[in-house]
Amino acid sequence: MGMRIGHGYDVHRFEKGRALILCGVEIPNDENIGLLGHSDADVAVHALMDAMLGAMALPDIGRLFPDNKEEFKGISSILLLKRVNGLIKEKGARLSNADITIIAEKPKLMKYIEQMRKTVAEALGVPETDIGIKATTEEGLGIAGQGIAAHAVVLMENQA
Ligand code: MG
Repeated sequence: MGMRIGHGYDVHRFEKGRALILCGVEIPNDENIGLLGHSDADVAVHALMDAMLGAMALPDIGRLFPDNKEEFKGISSILLLKRVNGLIKEKGARLSNADITIIAEKPKLMKYIEQMRKTVAEALGVPETDIGIKATTEEGLGIAGQGIAAHAVVLMENQA
């Protein structure tokens, strides 16, 4: 199999009164805004899972974890990420590295980035040095004023 690349993208709309969870970390904020979604709406982990699955040409998370299924209501996306990692292990592969970009006009995410890297690395059983996470805005020009978007690029490799 060698090396395989994958890309994932996701967007979730802001919703008042929901917890904001990004890369498994709860981000408190003054506006009390979170993201709307059937699961915990962790848009960054959703992008990461789709990148990992895409690299392996496996069905995406919309097909694996349908949003009309009660069993996935409010579920932690980190839990789903562990399941995806298991599927990929079954295919004889492992994550080599991931690069995640979170696009958000608000709230400020910088001080949570290291905790996010730690949380994702632990869930996948890889060193933190294999997980890159950064946050950016769209300078007020894009859709990210109304929600949060995320891209993820991964490299997968044969398990030694
Ligand atoms: Mg999603």
